Amino acid sequence: MANETLSTLLKQYEQKKSRAEIAADERKMDLYKKVPELQGIEDKINSVSISVTKHILTSPESNAGDTLKNFNHTMDALKAQKEQIFKKFDIPADYLEPHYECPICKDTGFIKRADYTSEMCNCLKQKLLNISFNKSNMSALSKENFNNFNANFFSDQADPAKYRFNISPRENIMNIKNRCLEFIENFDDPSAKNLLFTGNTGLR
Ligand SMILES: [Zn+2]
Repeated sequence: MANETLSTLLKQYEQKKSRAEIAADERKMDLYKKVPELQGIEDKINSVSISVTKHILTSPESNAGDTLKNFNHTMDALKAQKEQIFKKFDIPADYLEPHYECPICKDTGFIKRADYTSEMCNCLKQKLLNISFNKSNMSALSKENFNNFNANFFSDQADPAKYRFNISPRENIMNIKNRCLEFIENFDDPSAKNLLFTGNTGLR
């Protein structure tokens, strides 16, 4: 069941990740249509990257350092041109980045550690917790709590024949309520006794 929940969540993560990336691609295509200079810079970045890779693969190792230096220099210049255009048109620097719901794990649900292992991101942990919280009926606590407790639903007339108590149902429920509050108050006291509710099926 837990595995099923996790795989459903991971499918949702995959979908929102690809939605964010498709949206970023669409923003890019739109922007490059409006500002063709950006497309020119992108083309140059791509061709410089390809030629430098080819060069490093085919040249003697001793030249690789210089090639990389030149490459970094060219790339910096191209990036600076790109930034200038962004500024000129008042475009936020991260405009073409995918807008992930969780920027920490980029909507993958996992974070890669420096040692190449990965750990579950807090966003995914929280989603799993929310699901088990909802399943446990605990989510009703926001409505069903002692602040909303209304003793007036219980009769203040004692009826020993019906309830086998000499006190009224209202007095009885107030006693129960006070015992519960006492229990909560002393929850961290190891000598405090547990509470046990018994009754017919459906008792909540
Ligand atoms: Zn995350």
